[in-house]
Amino acid sequence: MNRKLTRQIRIGKVVVGGAAPVSVQSMTNTKTTDVTGTVHQIQRLTEAGCDIVRLAVPDREAAIALGRIKQAVGEVPLVADIHFDYRLALTAVERGIDALRINPGNLGDREQVAAVVKAAGSRNIPIRIGVNAGSLDKTLLEKHGGSPTPQAMVESAKGHIAILEDLDFYDIKVSLKAHDVPLTIAAYRLMSETVEYPLHLGITEAGTVNSGIIKSAVGIGALLAEGIGDTIRISLTGDPVEEVRAGNEILKALGLRNSGPTLVSCPTCGRCNIDLVPIATAVEDKLKFVKKPITVAVMGCVVNGPGEAKEADVGIAGGTGQGILFSKGEIIKKVAEDRLIDELFMEIDRLIEEE
Ligand code: SF4
Repeated sequence: MNRKLTRQIRIGKVVVGGAAPVSVQSMTNTKTTDVTGTVHQIQRLTEAGCDIVRLAVPDREAAIALGRIKQAVGEVPLVADIHFDYRLALTAVERGIDALRINPGNLGDREQVAAVVKAAGSRNIPIRIGVNAGSLDKTLLEKHGGSPTPQAMVESAKGHIAILEDLDFYDIKVSLKAHDVPLTIAAYRLMSETVEYPLHLGITEAGTVNSGIIKSAVGIGALLAEGIGDTIRISLTGDPVEEVRAGNEILKALGLRNSGPTLVSCPTCGRCNIDLVPIATAVEDKLKFVKKPITVAVMGCVVNGPGEAKEADVGIAGGTGQGILFSKGEIIKKVAEDRLIDELFMEIDRLIEEE
């Protein structure tokens, strides 16, 4: 896949843009002032494969709490999400934040924005500009016919970018989120043609775990497949750990990430003589604890299963009362139905150890 090479920035230890791998980002939904709860959630997110974590900073107490959170999570790159109050951004910088998510046009007067930019610049802290279709400026909306358009979103982002560039600041990342998928895709395409800055992709307010993942996969996946995008976030109404799992699956599906297991499982058909759904679900659950890149197949029948999943490193296929364990399309042995999952994971452990 040919990716668009954007200007490279660094968020803590994570390199973003240029030829760097696409990063997965999520956002805590704890109160940032609840340091223990937030640190615990950040640890769960990174354990699931999250590269960058954003935190809401609605007030001074939350900005101050960032220092203790940063100390507890060490190298995990943290982004402070701040609206309207430049003092919160200054406190976040002082407390060791790795990046700011602010819109300079909404932060204060020129002097106040300049103070934030100076503080960020002195510590190599990048700034993400986040345009949201739902909160576009009224004048801009009127100019573009009264409703959000890709052009209006890009114009809004360009306005914020111009403020930073005018202050000689270029460590910028941009996001243009909407819950409308075609609008989001069109806006990012236009932005990608317009600037060299790295882009953070997301479908905002995408929905619950089921519908939100589908909308995000369509929108973010379409853009990534065109080579657009440097970081992604799947916004879900649910446990943010699900956002990370979904983000990683999208990257793996496009060959943009090679970490953790990939599950291949068949849809079943009239040839299937085994209750495959609970088996596949149980395998998927247990695979959450496997960190190595390994392709695992769960197939409904021995006739076609091993052949259809011959790319899998290891797999099981159901029969009648018993199934088979196979690797790369070759049968290893027959296994009683109630032993299929255990034998599969013994073989996964053996392959990982061998590696
Ligand atoms: Fe049907 Fe067997 Fe293919 Fe599954 S592997 S879809 S059961 S033919």
